[in-house]
Amino acid sequence: MNLPLTAEQRQHLELILRQEHEELSARRQAYLGGLTRAEHAREVLLQDGDDAPQRASDREIDLQRVEEDVARLADIDAALQRIAEGTYGICRECGADIPARRLEVAPQARYCVACEAQRERGRKAAASL
Ligand SMILES: [Zn+2]
Repeated sequence: MNLPLTAEQRQHLELILRQEHEELSARRQAYLGGLTRAEHAREVLLQDGDDAPQRASDREIDLQRVEEDVARLADIDAALQRIAEGTYGICRECGADIPARRLEVAPQARYCVACEAQRERGRKAAASL
């Protein structure tokens, strides 16, 4: 049986979430700013054909990273929302308290270990259909 989070633990985790949120937002802003500059430089890039394929693959990696950041930001937003609602640290599947140790590693976790594993298996089964 896991204990509910203490107010202190919750405050600590909220701080971690807020810090990560800020970092991800800043990185996303920097990337979006870079895109705007890239737009301005587009004419130059289009004239410069030699290393275009290399640039395209760099851009793909960037986009993938940005998508991961966006997904993570959404997870963190959702976790902060649950803190505000008072449902943070409670498994959305079975209602059990998520251990503080797990939240220290994954503060955005929505599910307890057992339910996460269950969902993981479900995803794999769906993927192999
Ligand atoms: Zn659960």
